[in-house]
Amino acid sequence: MRIIDIRERTVEISRYGDPAVPSGGLTTSIVALTTDVVRHGRSVVGFGFSSFGRFGQGGLIRERFAPRLIAAGNVDPLEGWAAMMKGEKPGGHGERCVAVGTLDMALWDAAAKIAGLPLHELLRQWFGDRGNPVSVPVYASGGYAYPENDLARLKDELRRFQDTGYRRAKIKIGALPLARDIERVNTAAEVFAVPQSLAVDAMNSYAPEAAVAAAKALRPYRLMWFEDACDPLDFEGQAKVTAAYDASIASGEALFSVAEARLLDRHGGLRRDRDILLFDPVHCYGLPGYLQIVDAMETRGWKRSAFWPHGGHLFSLHAASALDLGGTEVNPSSFLPFGGLADGDTLSNGCASPPDLPGIGFESQPALDRLFRSLL
Ligand code: MG
Repeated sequence: MRIIDIRERTVEISRYGDPAVPSGGLTTSIVALTTDVVRHGRSVVGFGFSSFGRFGQGGLIRERFAPRLIAAGNVDPLEGWAAMMKGEKPGGHGERCVAVGTLDMALWDAAAKIAGLPLHELLRQWFGDRGNPVSVPVYASGGYAYPENDLARLKDELRRFQDTGYRRAKIKIGALPLARDIERVNTAAEVFAVPQSLAVDAMNSYAPEAAVAAAKALRPYRLMWFEDACDPLDFEGQAKVTAAYDASIASGEALFSVAEARLLDRHGGLRRDRDILLFDPVHCYGLPGYLQIVDAMETRGWKRSAFWPHGGHLFSLHAASALDLGGTEVNPSSFLPFGGLADGDTLSNGCASPPDLPGIGFESQPALDRLFRSLL
């Protein structure tokens, strides 16, 4: 396929499903990548976005990476990725990895649409079908602290997750004093009570001593995992938290390169028999960069079941399905219209399947489809 046009727009997103709660200014980039390939009388267009948490990447996409893709001529997704990365020096990852990952998502969407396959099937063809089921274990992610009436609203949100069929959920901690967060954990555990069905995410907010104190306070709950305890690059701090916490630790969401992944493994004290790797397939330079991390960690003795990618959207769901990962996040009520499953899709036994449409299947989410098409 030849890329003939790339459009980008930076849009606001909110952690809260309720538009009345202030969004805090978070943004993401949406891109539409028009190809010269025609299917059913129309040009095939691939769509992508910057996943969640790292803001829009419009400058880098428009000035640096989109022109390289358009100049690259006839490319498949891996050749397109190589064209984007040409001349980029090692290190200094910043957020260029997010810009590349955004366009990489659109390349895969276009390639799968051209092949007439759901993305997970195309990825199985490209990277080896491991014979694993299409459906993937998932958890519902949310539970941000509400400015008012927090505990009651938290409980309502988790009940909605449970009523929808989710058997696992994750809530946020770290923004409030520890005693308040423990109250939130107690409230959440009234809904997701089974051991190992509730995880907490401190969003890298704790100073080193506070992270260890939180680990000690959380230890009796036998949570699904304790995520993002301290600064992502404070491997010494992570190692202290890991040593103070015998249940599962989850880490790696805010590391974007294979070099950083190796550092985490070498110095973070993580244990291959229980801990979880959260690397985001969009933020890590897209799928090719993510696969470098999966390969490196497998070589170091990790199993694919330890990978539960960050980013509760359809692209992560396809990746987790195709690559035989442990499971993935879903954002049923956050970061709309990007989060959640295909409209009307249900869970079975706590597992979800990617939409059975060519490409990623954003067309199965009408509000998101409208947003992407507004770029054209
Ligand atoms: Mg996190």
